[in-house]
Amino acid sequence: MKKFYISTPIYYSSGKPHIGHAYTTILADVISRYKKIIGYDTFFITGMDEHGQKIETIAKRENISCQELVDKNSLIFEKLWKDLQVEPNFFIRTTNEKHKKFVQEKFSTLYSKKFIYLDNWVSLYCIQCEEDIVDKKVVIKDDKKYCEHGHEIISRSEESYFLKTTEFKEWIINVLDNQEIVIDPTSRVLELKNNFLNDEFRDLSISRNNLNWGVEIKEDKNHKIYVWLDALLNYISGLSICNDSFVDKYWNDDKTEIVHLLSKEITRFHCIYWPIILKMLNYRLPSKIISHGWIITSQGKMSKSIGNVVDPFELINKFGSDSIRYYLMKEISMINDSTFSEDLLVTTHNADLCNNFGNIINRTLGLINKYSNETIPKYSRTENNDLVSFENTIIDFTSKIEKTINTLDVNLIVKEINILENNINSFIEINKPWNLFKENKIDDLMYFLSLLSNSVKILIFYISPILVSKSKEAWEQFGFPKDLFTIIEINKFDSIDNIKVNNSKILFERIEKNEN
Ligand SMILES: [Zn+2]
Repeated sequence: MKKFYISTPIYYSSGKPHIGHAYTTILADVISRYKKIIGYDTFFITGMDEHGQKIETIAKRENISCQELVDKNSLIFEKLWKDLQVEPNFFIRTTNEKHKKFVQEKFSTLYSKKFIYLDNWVSLYCIQCEEDIVDKKVVIKDDKKYCEHGHEIISRSEESYFLKTTEFKEWIINVLDNQEIVIDPTSRVLELKNNFLNDEFRDLSISRNNLNWGVEIKEDKNHKIYVWLDALLNYISGLSICNDSFVDKYWNDDKTEIVHLLSKEITRFHCIYWPIILKMLNYRLPSKIISHGWIITSQGKMSKSIGNVVDPFELINKFGSDSIRYYLMKEISMINDSTFSEDLLVTTHNADLCNNFGNIINRTLGLINKYSNETIPKYSRTENNDLVSFENTIIDFTSKIEKTINTLDVNLIVKEINILENNINSFIEINKPWNLFKENKIDDLMYFLSLLSNSVKILIFYISPILVSKSKEAWEQFGFPKDLFTIIEINKFDSIDNIKVNNSKILFERIEKNEN
């Protein structure tokens, strides 16, 4: 069986989930479900990044322990995934004891292979924010340096362990140039080379000696492992925690397709440092890294101070998870930044889900009730060219959609599903079953109803990774047995002969727009 592994980044446990987390994680869930329905053995992992200075600071402020803070936030994320019908195979937390042991072991391996050395690390630090300030965020005024909040910052020097990433600079440039890892979109490769793989490229600092809340280095108890190294290793530790054989099965096997999905601001860590760490540890490389754009609002990037942060829990209460999943997969670009719009969510829900998908289900069941005694007729071809040509349209769709699924381009998958829906609607309009009935062309009418039911069966099957619960309801309304829900059975036109359909119920209710 072909194997597929997909991950999201693990989310930093310092706050609540926003729509960006929801988008990335739904996208991974949808891709994983698509691969599964076309016959792959899939593994999907997401989770929480729970160490670091920021967690310590927030816990202190809230007067709780670090563990209490990360336990609390982890539950919120897990609840969100449940409410959005996101079903990972494993939800990893970096405070998991087995993960910590895994990270320590890998640090020791790197250390014994002499990829790690101790040196002085000079950094810029804001005492008031209690944060290291990266070069890009430093504000210089009258020769003095300030953080983005206007506090004066100091430069400090501390002992740190470093990873010899510079030794692998030429190697990683080659990996990226030769597409040994496919970076999607490919335009990110040039950005990485220009912005990071230049003369400024340095060895990576991978420890902190002023940090309490982190994974301890066994070789030196004064140091904790830097959160990025700790976090990246989850992609393999998660497999080993889940099952002893899973690292071999889903990672080490060259035939497994391995995909990391992430938002563009963390591309550098995944496309430069992570492959170098894998190389140092003698692991294979991922097949593909998809670095998607941001979800912004009409007032720009979401931020707490502007008050334009979209709360995914509120959205679920208003619209239900299937409509949110569908909207995000259709309207949010996998490449460019996209604007989140509740107005467009409502429009998409009404137009695509009520008037199109829901209506097709309803209409088809109505026609079967009216002309075929609530039973799907036996599949039997006639000489009618219009009908035969629609049968070919359905066959073309099924062969094409599998290729599209393998590109992992969910925007394109939705487009092809929309084309199938339009074809089904015109099939009804052009062939007018009510006329076939009046003209007593009963063989044609039965062939028409069989083709229509088959096309709807295929539509439900291929929309199911997005509309998780409504596709199940639609499948049940047709009375299709569960064991027909496979790629092999779905392509057989006679597999639903003589099935008695159930009553149709409205799948999606219209939502009225707020006029303000
Ligand atoms: Zn500051």
